[in-house]
Amino acid sequence: MTRWDEKQARLRAFLTHGAVGDLTVALLRSLAKMSPCIFCKIIRGEAPGAILYRDEQVTAFRDAHPAAPVHILIVPNRHIASLNDLEIEDEPLIGHLFSVAKQLAGQEGVQENGFRLIVNTGAHGGQTVPHLHLHLIGGQRMRHPMG
Ligand code: 5GP
Ligand code: ZN
Repeated sequence: MTRWDEKQARLRAFLTHGAVGDLTVALLRSLAKMSPCIFCKIIRGEAPGAILYRDEQVTAFRDAHPAAPVHILIVPNRHIASLNDLEIEDEPLIGHLFSVAKQLAGQEGVQENGFRLIVNTGAHGGQTVPHLHLHLIGGQRMRHPMG
């Protein structure tokens, strides 16, 4: 371990333990609330969005730049930047995102012909909005092969 690594490890321990740790968590929570994340704003009703579904865990709204006749984004209400930030406790949330996707596919009439679900992650994945979201795309035969 280099001296720099040691310093970083000591700083991390200081910031994440005891009363200072609690303060760090509170600070990060209030920063997240002030975050300029566009999807958080849509979820909170602070930015316009064609909302199709909402419950205590997830919100679904139409994509502003649809790639197909049906293009819906299903997002967790809690700000999770990407799939890379998922915790094991989030597994039920992810299952719920898929259930809502199935329900919306039925509502939008694309279940029979089929549809596509996409989760872009990070730069190579083509993720442009850093709030985890599931794209539900349908209403036409998908043209682009994956990758
Ligand atoms: P990503 O590229 O991150 O997987 O997908 C982000 C999606 O969010 C894009 O399809 C984009 O069209 C959509 N999007 C970006 N900004 C907004 C917005 O302000 N409102 C809505 N409804 N969709 C947005
Ligand atoms: Zn967000």
